[in-house]
Amino acid sequence: MLDLANLQTPLDVAILDHLPDAIVVVGHQGQLLFCNHQAKVLLAGHLASLWEIDGNDQHRVLDRHHCPLGRDQLPLKRVVAGEILENEEMVLARRGADHLLWVAVSGGPVSGDTAAGILSLRNISAYKQRESQLHRRAYQDDLTQLPNRAALIDHVNDLLAQGREAESMALLFIDLDRFKAVNDSLGHWVGNQLLADLGRRLQQTLPDHALMARLGGDEFALVVDHLTSSDEAIALAEALRHTITQPFHLANHDLYIDASIGIAPGPGPYRHAEDWLRDADTAMYQVKDLADRHWCMFDKSLQNLDSHRLQSEMALRQALEQNELRLHYQPIVTISNQAIIGFEALVRWQHPDRGLLMPGEFIAIAEASGLIIPLSWWVLEEACRQMQAWTEAYPGIAHFTVSVNMSSKQFFQKDLVEKVQAILTKTGFDPHRLKLEITEGVLIDHSDSIIATLEQLRAIGIRLAVDDFGTGYSSLSYLHRFPFDCLKIDRSFIENADQDFEKLEILQSVVRLAWNLGLDVVAEGVETHRHYAQLKALRCESGQGYLFSKPLPPDAVEQVLQQETSRS
Ligand code: C2E
Ligand code: MG
Ligand code: MG
Repeated sequence: MLDLANLQTPLDVAILDHLPDAIVVVGHQGQLLFCNHQAKVLLAGHLASLWEIDGNDQHRVLDRHHCPLGRDQLPLKRVVAGEILENEEMVLARRGADHLLWVAVSGGPVSGDTAAGILSLRNISAYKQRESQLHRRAYQDDLTQLPNRAALIDHVNDLLAQGREAESMALLFIDLDRFKAVNDSLGHWVGNQLLADLGRRLQQTLPDHALMARLGGDEFALVVDHLTSSDEAIALAEALRHTITQPFHLANHDLYIDASIGIAPGPGPYRHAEDWLRDADTAMYQVKDLADRHWCMFDKSLQNLDSHRLQSEMALRQALEQNELRLHYQPIVTISNQAIIGFEALVRWQHPDRGLLMPGEFIAIAEASGLIIPLSWWVLEEACRQMQAWTEAYPGIAHFTVSVNMSSKQFFQKDLVEKVQAILTKTGFDPHRLKLEITEGVLIDHSDSIIATLEQLRAIGIRLAVDDFGTGYSSLSYLHRFPFDCLKIDRSFIENADQDFEKLEILQSVVRLAWNLGLDVVAEGVETHRHYAQLKALRCESGQGYLFSKPLPPDAVEQVLQQETSRS
């Protein structure tokens, strides 16, 4: 215990006045016996509330969770009652003041006739403010002001620790569709602005007992508690999607985005937030394959799918490294005389165990994992190299073109044109003989940057074709805005044109329109003589399909080339 008997000498007081902490000494009835200079400055107005609850309710002492202290919990009461306080954090609040005073309180009883307790209070407000800034930075996403991934994980782990009923909660994983297109075409500033606006919107749509976080990039997640059925989670997913699909007015544009939402009910068997989040992500991934809705509920069967996806991704990565990819070449012929005018290069995967895989089995994985980029560059270089080699061996094919499929992902690469140019230089292939096929999906964004890229490619001499025309936006109006040379009509139009009058009419008008716009037309999927006769009657210039030839491996192409050149 402290002995304050001789405290009143001027030297002692001078020392105490120079301390950074506020020192207060009281008697048994709480009467103030001493306070140093710092106490007068720091505690002005608050002093009485350390001993007694303020009857006017102007000053209050709160605990570190901001709960008002009861009478017996007041710090001077406690030290006089014999308790020792060590750096206890408290808040001194004053009505109407927005600034809270955080103090660390130490003290204890004092032995002496008059003095009963001493308190020392250190102002820790600045430290607390920094701490909360750090906390916010660690747990909040700066851009959207939403909680971040770490905050969500902590919160979900807390919920899991509470042990709830099996399906009373749900975790929703939200992935924005087409956000990247906005970002890439209008710039990061607009992209960020959109995310910030979206963050505000989402926050306003949230039900009670829900926490929404931005996980990073264009991914968000939300955990919701107190559900009575999984239908409620679905309704929430639909409401969120509705919110997301409302237009954003930014930078003089009306921007539209969409979302895929994976729902994982819980807590179920989950013990860790990460596992639960992974399953919601897996469910989200499935949405991309669904035509009619934008959410998917997780169930066990998806778990296998997910590990299958991971395995395939790893295997595809290996395939690229170990040269397991192959190109097959499908002839493109002139309809009038069936003479070959070029080939379309189509990728295959010579899988060590599963045999030859078609693109339908791995292009989606390549797209989703980003492996489509190296894959596409490999295809382009291999097609150019092979065509150049054949041209040198068979000079009679010097007018043959090669068509190569482009992925929309490639258009987000800033140095696309330079890369294409570098491949042409390396292989020595004539750019006028290269056709790049682009599906309508790439064009949804009528963004200037895509048009500029296409024009640069064309300036090198490369020809551009719209692939699978009629399957995507089926809008003829955009065609004149893009510098295309060729239209490939999707096989679904050719398929039933001989039976379906409407299809025939569409086919007819597409051929006419292409002619008006000065575009070549290639009909895809010509399988039968009836198709062929139809196209001939429509004066469609060229075609591609099993009737003429299936896609061929390189050695089979060589045989064809030998025949072609011996014939001419
Ligand atoms: P696509 O570019 O429209 O290629 C034409 C597809 O139609 C090829 O399928 C071809 O084998 C098939 N086909 C050709 N003639 C007929 C026919 O008469 N009847 C029927 N039923 N089908 C016919 P494949 O090789 O399976 O390729 C499918 C798709 O995969 C391609 O469609 C293309 O979108 C994509 N793909 C192929 N290679 C690549 C590539 O190197 N890069 C990218 N990004 N995508 C590729
Ligand atoms: Mg194609
Ligand atoms: Mg096609």
